[in-house]
Amino acid sequence: MRAAEPDSWLTTAGSPYRRLIFIMIDGAAYDVLRELIAAGDLPALASLAELGGGVKKAVTCFPSTTGPAYIPYFMGLFPGTANVPGYRWLSRAGYDEAGSKWTRPGLASYSGREALGFDLDLPQRPTWFDYFGSSKNILNLLTKGCDPEDNLTRRIKPFVYAIGHYLHRWQLADRVAAGALVDAVRQGPELIACAFNGVDGHSHERDSRAPKVIESYRTIDRAIAAARRELKSLGRDEETLWVIGSDHGHSATHTHIDMARTLDGLGFPTLYFPRLWRQDAHCAEMVSGNGMTQVYFRNGAGWRERTPWEEIEARQTPEALLSIEGIDLVAGQTADGRVNLRTKAGSATIAWRDGLCSYDFEGQDPLSCGRFTGLDAEKVLQMTFESARPDACMQLAQLFRAERCGDLLISARQGYDLRARWEIPEHHSTHGAIIPAQMHVPVIISHPLQADYFRTADVFPTVLRLLGKQPATDIDGVARD
Ligand SMILES: [Zn+2]
Repeated sequence: MRAAEPDSWLTTAGSPYRRLIFIMIDGAAYDVLRELIAAGDLPALASLAELGGGVKKAVTCFPSTTGPAYIPYFMGLFPGTANVPGYRWLSRAGYDEAGSKWTRPGLASYSGREALGFDLDLPQRPTWFDYFGSSKNILNLLTKGCDPEDNLTRRIKPFVYAIGHYLHRWQLADRVAAGALVDAVRQGPELIACAFNGVDGHSHERDSRAPKVIESYRTIDRAIAAARRELKSLGRDEETLWVIGSDHGHSATHTHIDMARTLDGLGFPTLYFPRLWRQDAHCAEMVSGNGMTQVYFRNGAGWRERTPWEEIEARQTPEALLSIEGIDLVAGQTADGRVNLRTKAGSATIAWRDGLCSYDFEGQDPLSCGRFTGLDAEKVLQMTFESARPDACMQLAQLFRAERCGDLLISARQGYDLRARWEIPEHHSTHGAIIPAQMHVPVIISHPLQADYFRTADVFPTVLRLLGKQPATDIDGVARD
């Protein structure tokens, strides 16, 4: 669906750019891509980075996982604002104990065919597709606003994903994307959105520097080189803005924590994917990535109302969880709307009021930024960007905006994930957590930008401005110079 009154913002007056090509390298870790470019391994990406002043380091959203982490790029919104708080979620409003329990509107997962429902879960707000007169989509899962006819790979996508996922052969998906990218360039739409999934798929199989991962980066680089040759021959290279982004990083996993069994052991019979038919459940556990999970407690109101932090703490659930090796952080929302978080060594409170944040802690400071009051979103980003939990003041708080957000957010330490069964094939590398290796992502924009540190939600308004357009609605991101 197109947003209303397009004429007021579909303008490219005064902009040097007429077209946008957005490449999502799903799962590209900042350090890995930067090192490959520095080593001269990816010349086409290097030349785009050179135009923009280097590979930028951005912080993605929490949870750092495919699906939710696409939303900041395509809509300028955090997943909490968009009410898509995870790769799996439960909706208190939609979960009808008397009716169908296994799917929307009560429960969702974006695995396999269920990913087709992703667009339906997004809010009625414009995406990049709504801002351009013509577009083509290639293997990217967020297609809201894209005409099905322009979704070039919609028929082949389930097939190439199944081969990638079950046979560890993401080379096919990468090659399909590479070929479709050059075809799309020939057709000359104003927007091309193209996702490459080999880096993520092959990273899960082994680690983020595995030979197959490096080969995926090289395939992408060759595709970009071929697309630029085509653009040059069509005389469109200089009017094309390139943006290369990643939705999350990756870090190697040596231990899987069985969070569903852990919660069972704490006295909460647990509903989780794929065990969704339990009648006696006291909580639901919805894992993302698998470095983070959200827990929804059933309380006096059934599943209808959020259980505040005070009640969860009174049962000593945070302590019990943090005593498990591999749990980095737990967070919940207090009855008056603050976010409380705890690590093994300390606890902290985050409070936002009128766009300003206050932060206090006890014990060891979880964000290493010291106490403060009344700082805006920009200062908070600067102070916590390089912390052990990047941008946590914003990222934990934004998630609780979602009606579908859990009562308790759990984030794993590096080296651990939170899903011991049912991840087939087994994952040896993880994302989803609020730790630097998974939150820091590379962003390349082929236009000189001063900004070095920003949120992925900032890419959306920055790019619109470079194309002479304006966001049509309120968004979370901020345009960068
Ligand atoms: Zn992944």
